[in-house]
Amino acid sequence: MLDVDQKHHLHPWEHMGSWKEGERYAFTRGDGIYVYDGAGRRLIDGPAGMWAVQIGYGRKEMADAIAAQVMELPYASPWSSTTAPAAALAEKVAAMAPENLNTVMFTTGGSTAVDTALRTMQFMNNRLGRPGKKIIIAREKGYHGSTYLAASVTGKERDKSCFDFEDRLVRFLPDVNPYIRPEGMSEAAWCDAKVDDLERLIADVGPEYIGAFIAEPVLCSGGVIIPPEGYHRRTLELCRRHDILYISDEVVTAFGRLGHWFASEEVFGIEPDIITCAKGITSGYLPLGACIISDRVMERMTGADHDVLFPNGYTYSAHPVCCAAALKNIEIIERDGLLEHVRAIAPQFQERLTALESSPIIGDARGMGLLGCLEGLIDGRNTPLDVQRTLGARLDEACEARGLIVRPLINMCVFSPPLTISPEQVDQMFDILTDAISEVE
Ligand code: PLP
Repeated sequence: MLDVDQKHHLHPWEHMGSWKEGERYAFTRGDGIYVYDGAGRRLIDGPAGMWAVQIGYGRKEMADAIAAQVMELPYASPWSSTTAPAAALAEKVAAMAPENLNTVMFTTGGSTAVDTALRTMQFMNNRLGRPGKKIIIAREKGYHGSTYLAASVTGKERDKSCFDFEDRLVRFLPDVNPYIRPEGMSEAAWCDAKVDDLERLIADVGPEYIGAFIAEPVLCSGGVIIPPEGYHRRTLELCRRHDILYISDEVVTAFGRLGHWFASEEVFGIEPDIITCAKGITSGYLPLGACIISDRVMERMTGADHDVLFPNGYTYSAHPVCCAAALKNIEIIERDGLLEHVRAIAPQFQERLTALESSPIIGDARGMGLLGCLEGLIDGRNTPLDVQRTLGARLDEACEARGLIVRPLINMCVFSPPLTISPEQVDQMFDILTDAISEVE
């Protein structure tokens, strides 16, 4: 399977030409928190696919719900019609989202949800007669997707260096990771410094030119970076003061990863203007994303005039089969009490994670809910992160040999297992990590 694949299939973020045997998995099936490869090896899926498979693999009721919708109505144009699953899912998502976010635009995934959020801001400001208020403030290391606009607000240097992105429209804030704060600085002082970064940037650029601030509640692909206490609340306050839309990118954090439907309000105590989500909305069984918009933004988009065209959307927006999958996925999360389960199991997960910091090669073991990251020890806390570039890959190899997949990210590795993971399986996962670290040390 891998031979054919290598000849004809270009993967996301592929190291073209340098792919080697053993570097890629060929999965044949999944069951619970496990995936199986061609050789019949069973592996714990540490990253839940790509931060997605909340309810675990092999759920027959998902297959039944998907099949039933395919037979009933596999597709309908989202331009000229709606369908029962699309209407029901929009109502459900609006009810789960923070109180004043009641309008849902469905997209094909996370990148298109972010695109839609940013275009909403542009459209709103054009409608309000302030076409200059369009600059987007994003953050170094943030990841928001791979369409042109979503990639333009992504703050990963390596990825940006390969293309010509929309730099005119975007400004980046420095890393907020408390791990890299100067020796001796308290977390509160670090928070002050990071909020000051935003305040200064707004003053430098001029608030009349800034349309949106986009942030992940926990910055995930950049290395599970948890902002200092109070950061989101204070940055939201700054945005409100300057009439800048606050876009919370919850593509990873929504649908249970932190033990709540949405992390913005329930974990970080903020009500953003727009929330973007995807992945966990269907547990990855089918592709779907959503951009959830506040009543105030909707009012400002339409104004007194009720016949306003918003030319944005996709052939597969609100795809009825994907919406049916999302409804069944949400029903399973509710019925099986998975949010409560995550809240109950997270302390054990985080305690085992933190214990890994005792290794001489681990500098920081951080996480929240069922999100975790191990970062290699860096020599003097502010040296560039390329010091131990291969740590992620070495840990990945050592874990794989013991039956666990992790996601290597240069000198880090991250994991976010299915939400169904049991206490015994958490122990199994961290026993493997402990062994793997000892091998790599
Ligand atoms: N936003 C965040 C925070 C993400 O982590 C991702 C993907 O990992 C995206 C957006 C892009 O989502 P997609 O790959 O579904 O387009």
